Amino acid sequence: MVQTWGTGDGGTASCKKCGAEYKVTVKRFPMRDSDKFNCEICGELMNEWNSTQVPMYELISKPASSSGDTPSG
Ligand SMILES: [Zn+2]
Repeated sequence: MVQTWGTGDGGTASCKKCGAEYKVTVKRFPMRDSDKFNCEICGELMNEWNSTQVPMYELISKPASSSGDTPSG
């Protein structure tokens, strides 16, 4: 596998709070970007970065149930 310069496949990430699943694509910026990503469904902080490689999140799977309550844990 050869690493490409520009964008890369970051796999998938799932929200630990609501279970929404995201496709992650890593983009490379010419300048360092400081940002964070919150789950589109529940607002849970999923990632923070301060880097030229920035993950882009695309919602691919919504949680099965949209209950606001969290189980014990
Ligand atoms: Zn969530």
